[in-house]
Amino acid sequence: MPEGNEIRMKGLGVSPGVAIGCAMVSVHAQSYEKADGTPALTDPKREEERFLKAVAESRRQLVELRERLKQEGKVKEAEIFEAHALFLDDPEVLGPIKKKIDKGVGAEAALNNVMNRCLAVFEKIGTPAAERQAADVRDITARILNNLGGGPAEVLKKGGILVARELAPSETADLEKREVAALVTEYGGSTSHTALVAQAMDLPAVLGVANLLTHIEDGDLLVVDGTKGEIIINPSPETQAIYGEMLAEQRRERSELKALRGVKAKTKDGRSVTLLGNITIPEETKRLIEYGAEGIGLYRTEFLFMGRRELPDEEEQYANYAKAVVAAEGKPVTIRTLDLGGDKFAAVLGKTRESNPFLGWRAIRICLDRPDFFRTQLRAMIRAANLGNVRIMFPMIATVEEFRHAKSLFLEAKAELTARGEKVKEYIPCGMMVEIPAAALMADHFAKHVDFFSIGSNDLVQYTLAADRGNAKVAKLYDALHPAVLRLISMTVEAARRGERKIDVCCCGAAAGKPESGLLYLGLGVNELSMPAEAQSIMKRAMARFDFEDCENAARKIAQAPDFDTYKELRAEWAAQFKKEREK
Ligand code: PEP
Ligand code: MG
Repeated sequence: MPEGNEIRMKGLGVSPGVAIGCAMVSVHAQSYEKADGTPALTDPKREEERFLKAVAESRRQLVELRERLKQEGKVKEAEIFEAHALFLDDPEVLGPIKKKIDKGVGAEAALNNVMNRCLAVFEKIGTPAAERQAADVRDITARILNNLGGGPAEVLKKGGILVARELAPSETADLEKREVAALVTEYGGSTSHTALVAQAMDLPAVLGVANLLTHIEDGDLLVVDGTKGEIIINPSPETQAIYGEMLAEQRRERSELKALRGVKAKTKDGRSVTLLGNITIPEETKRLIEYGAEGIGLYRTEFLFMGRRELPDEEEQYANYAKAVVAAEGKPVTIRTLDLGGDKFAAVLGKTRESNPFLGWRAIRICLDRPDFFRTQLRAMIRAANLGNVRIMFPMIATVEEFRHAKSLFLEAKAELTARGEKVKEYIPCGMMVEIPAAALMADHFAKHVDFFSIGSNDLVQYTLAADRGNAKVAKLYDALHPAVLRLISMTVEAARRGERKIDVCCCGAAAGKPESGLLYLGLGVNELSMPAEAQSIMKRAMARFDFEDCENAARKIAQAPDFDTYKELRAEWAAQFKKEREK
């Protein structure tokens, strides 16, 4: 074992690959407040201590500054900092912040929240004096944030490794621009949106590293091993050399996979399968098509709605959807209607805090309650359909009634466009996500109404096993190959094939992009798999090493395992066979 001061920490390897770079500890991401406004796991006592320490340090700095300026004869400037120091003693400011911290909100988030309210008041007054006071508030906030552990602005150097307590989906949106090399967080599970974004961008990522931020400092050299689920802080020269070689091997492997991009996905015995891609922003489409995807199986539209004050109007939405449809060059683009709620939060729809957001007002439930908003999104999608091959998909459908209601609003949206004199395609397929166990159990009812099914394994697993998809503590319960999950998938496929219309069944959850689960789903009869770009070639390579019958037999046996021990054995057998095949 290499020695030295290196620190090894375990987490969940949610996106494979290795990276070496400097840690960039994100101040914004250190916020303890979750994206939906609910307090995350904090220790109020520790938070209050951190906060008071940062305030004390800020006060000390201000007094020092004031004294220096006075000595230099700059009395007016000194007065400004005197006022700042007084502000730090104001119970009307500190009180509400402490109250928030007491309730479990992180120090940074509590500070930002209260200070933003102060700012709003000054900005409303609008006089020059109030403007000056607002500038003071900004200054003080930046100083305290700084003393809480980082700079007020997130400055990520090229090739840096983003380190954060937890990332809200909106915070992961511009990682590409910032050329981040890897992601590491203290919270988050294997199907959290941070994981999905990391996979979509081929960024090695380790999430759920307990006590991460107490061990890591901005600028530390860091190794991230997303395959193993490990990070190494301040790696020894030996470790650096080992990982340097792994990086070179990773580059070689990536070039081998590149050669598979133009090859059709087929099992060893020639059964062909459609591989599609998942996107969150339209710009990803081009890359997916280059990676060999035969279309888009899931366009998550919610990213367009996050982190903003006003809803995007029909034109803005249309421009986005159209971009993806055009970039797909006639290949199918499955656009999913808004799936906010759960771990994806947007204040813009007036969603308030819920004690159980994954079981609450989420996705289609919000859309059906806000028909004006929903029809706007549908109109934008219907218009984009004129430019290519669009399929519309409704998320979180639990009852046939919901699907019918959504479909009727789709028809209304179509009629609105026709009344406006716009041309609309006669047939646009409308399908649903199967991600609630009830939908899978009742798939035969749904099959009479829908044009396709798409299994959302991320949610289906979470709801079937009652294991939060983003909670590292229950990650071991979260099992995409659990017989209960396989049986639900099998029921969905059977219902799709039994009906008169023989509809397609896709799977677009993270498990679809992992050969070990993806091949089993194929064995159950799923005929399309939708995944991130890098997973495409890996899946093709794995698929070419198995006969369809192998996948079918393994899937059926695991799904019908008579008891838990047999299940474990069968699963291990499959994994071993898989590993053997993988190494050939
Ligand atoms: C899923 O649940 O598997 C899915 C694809 O949807 P999301 O991850 O966006 O909830
Ligand atoms: Mg889902």
